[in-house]
Amino acid sequence: ALDAIDDEAARDGLVVVRHGANLIVEDQQAHRHQCVTRQHIGHPVCGDRVVWQPCGPRAGVITAIHPRDTLLSRPDASGAEKPLAANIDLLVIVVAPQPPPTGFLIDQYLVAAERIGVAALILCNKMDLLDETARAPFLDALQPYAEIGYPLLPLSLKHDPSLGPLRQRFAGQCGILVGQSGVGKSSLIQALLPDLEVQVGVLSGATGLGRHTTSAATSYRLESGGRLIDSPGVRSFRLGALERAELEQGFPEFRPFLGRCRFSDCQHHQEPDCAILAASAAGAIAPTRLRAFHQLAKTVPHGFSGAH
Ligand code: GDP
Ligand code: ZN
Repeated sequence: ALDAIDDEAARDGLVVVRHGANLIVEDQQAHRHQCVTRQHIGHPVCGDRVVWQPCGPRAGVITAIHPRDTLLSRPDASGAEKPLAANIDLLVIVVAPQPPPTGFLIDQYLVAAERIGVAALILCNKMDLLDETARAPFLDALQPYAEIGYPLLPLSLKHDPSLGPLRQRFAGQCGILVGQSGVGKSSLIQALLPDLEVQVGVLSGATGLGRHTTSAATSYRLESGGRLIDSPGVRSFRLGALERAELEQGFPEFRPFLGRCRFSDCQHHQEPDCAILAASAAGAIAPTRLRAFHQLAKTVPHGFSGAH
């Protein structure tokens, strides 16, 4: 049957979910088609822009994957990077006063964003939990991130369920929400996607793949025209293994000073003539960020990535 495909019928689409060998492709009219992949073209993932050809009602074959702008992957049990979602352009890091940000998690997410090449913003949810006097210190602690260029977005989903400022950020973008448990990610996603149940129903019902498909990364359509990719794996996405140079590059405010230390293998700890320490002493690098760098240099596994 595949031989009978008419090349004239080739069209562009978006992979909205992959479940094993089954993929659901959304066409420009927002219709979904259950597709398989022609051999030897690689493995499309959620968010991939593809060329596909219909073969039967609501069914098709993917014949090509368009080049990816970005690729989010996560390490599997063996440490190998597994692609999770393609063409994300916004990483929304959700934090809250309760539970408070811990363990340099924000810095880890930012390093991941820099490495993938996506824009990142820090969304401070549950601001209603802080009174006037507590609000300023909480935001002050996050100010170094704003100075580097990562936007800070204070919000209270509880008091402003319309989420106007966040919706604006998503306009025309494809984003994901990440952050520690309890900060309000699932509440935010439900608020951003009032028709979430409908979209899930369409995806699982129309394709016969069942509701368990939503445990896989899924691309949802936002009213703004943007998209939100979500799954338990996406929400709990963490930084994988890194080369040391990649970690350094993950701190954009370090970049003007890299390669200027006396020693080429400088750890930026207490070495003489360290350009990073000098920049920190001069106020160009926040002490908290230097601490985060040292901590991540100790704890992030090294080696796998970049090696293949
Ligand atoms: P997740 O684990 O990050 O997905 O967090 P959830 O969405 O499950 O939210 C955890 C708890 O925080 C829930 O009880 C929410 O109702 C609550 N929550 C979410 N947003 C806000 C907010 O803006 N203010 C307050 N006070 N609570 C919120
Ligand atoms: Zn140094």
